[in-house]
Amino acid sequence: MKIICVGRNYAEHAKELQNDVPTEPVIFMKPKGAILLPGKALYYPEFTNDLQYECEVVVRIIKNGKHIQEKFANKYYGEVTVGIDFTARDVQREQQKKGLPWEIAKAFDGSAAVGSFVPITVETNVNNLAFQLKKNKETVQDGHTRNMIFTVDKIVTYVSGFFTLNIGDLIFTGTPAGVGPVVPGDHLEGYLQGNKVLDAEVR
Ligand code: MG
Repeated sequence: MKIICVGRNYAEHAKELQNDVPTEPVIFMKPKGAILLPGKALYYPEFTNDLQYECEVVVRIIKNGKHIQEKFANKYYGEVTVGIDFTARDVQREQQKKGLPWEIAKAFDGSAAVGSFVPITVETNVNNLAFQLKKNKETVQDGHTRNMIFTVDKIVTYVSGFFTLNIGDLIFTGTPAGVGPVVPGDHLEGYLQGNKVLDAEVR
């Protein structure tokens, strides 16, 4: 399986990091080993001094496909949760300055925390989901998927033009504004539509 991530998919977040609002999706990937399973702790990596959380809605691919048309895209994902795209922001800044890839800043072991998946039913509209991240019980990110620049369907269509999507692949759909640092001892909780689906700790 692979983990596909979208960068700068919320205008307010693009602005907070002084990035332009993109005209097409910004895509990067994380390897399978990046997954931090529910209830597992992330050990603060030694290569960064600025580890940050990015809380994102995550969908799971349930059907193989490539060159997927937007009108059929919703048949290809069937479960949703929230995750955290952990980012070594200082390393990412250095890489960006040099025009180099981001993997060492974003794809390291444990960098993709994933909550418990919820099935997408006929009533679920992935374009109308509220999600929050709490750090040590305080809400630090409060997002809504209606504010995405590129909808989940658009992302599936775009990505599948480059990479075959396979059952079990995950798509991290981008973070809203409010990203910030974590330190060892921090407790992170992710909520989808008011229900807690993610719990992670930094050690
Ligand atoms: Mg992100």
